[in-house]
Amino acid sequence: MKPPEVDRIAGSRAAVAARRARAEVKRQIASGERLAIDVVDSAGDEHPAEATLRVSELIGSIPWLGPTRTARIMEDLAISPSKRVGGLGAHQKVRLREFLLRRQGTAGRAPLRPGSLVVLAGPTAVGKGTVAGHIRTHHPDVLLSVSATTRPPRPGEIEGVTYYFVDDARFDAMVEENEFLEWATVHNAYRYGTPRTPIVTALNQGKSVLLEIDLQGARQVRQAFPEARLVFLLPPSWDELVRRLVGRGTEDEAERERRLATAKIELAAQDEFDFHVVNSDVETAAREVVQLMAVSRD
Ligand code: 5GP
Repeated sequence: MKPPEVDRIAGSRAAVAARRARAEVKRQIASGERLAIDVVDSAGDEHPAEATLRVSELIGSIPWLGPTRTARIMEDLAISPSKRVGGLGAHQKVRLREFLLRRQGTAGRAPLRPGSLVVLAGPTAVGKGTVAGHIRTHHPDVLLSVSATTRPPRPGEIEGVTYYFVDDARFDAMVEENEFLEWATVHNAYRYGTPRTPIVTALNQGKSVLLEIDLQGARQVRQAFPEARLVFLLPPSWDELVRRLVGRGTEDEAERERRLATAKIELAAQDEFDFHVVNSDVETAAREVVQLMAVSRD
């Protein structure tokens, strides 16, 4: 039996309103206003838009997760494509929440949007700074992150350009205030950290961001943002690395020994990285790194 005309109109109005409400939830997730896990946690009779949203749409709204990755994630989570958030089984919900926590962290961590985040790491004295500097000069469209450090400035280094030089108390305060995307004690000596805000802002504007950090920092970034591209800069050979370190002459003997020991550990970790670039020539290496920013990881 056909429903009376008035009911049909009211029904289709309600359907349009429900679709709009779901679209708004998706927009909030995509813009970073709301974390996907909060949507899962609030889904229920009192929040029908959240409850009737398909899980695939929820995941697909998360910045950086396109249809291909979403489909793969749904498969990994063993959730059918048509499943709605409110209809999840208990085990499915646990798996989804675990995934979302890994992916977006707990509330308060600023979510990222497209624009590529590239981490340039590699052993000491391999020339990361020189390659990054070359990119800064020749590719002003790429934001080169400026770290904070407790190391004193070397001759020629400029506050706010090379680093923000801070004392221990200031660094402690920045850690306390959760101002760092990552931070680490490098070479068992000084602390270095990547300020979070400029990076999130640039990525939100669709810009590419380059972090020139150590291995511990690269691992932290990978944990927080699995979509970051990790590039490992390699020296042409071990001998060449030692030669560069000695040639630089900026460190005393003890410091050099410490850095070489770190370099050995760092070289052993190269397989954790997505891309490898050999730094035989700065210009070529810089070009390769910039090209990697445009490579799709899907
Ligand atoms: P340098 O003292 O020679 O400028 O840097 C020493 C090391 O600290 C380099 O390997 C450099 O990549 C690393 N580093 C610089 N900034 C950061 C940062 O913000 N975070 C981490 N984890 N390492 C950094």
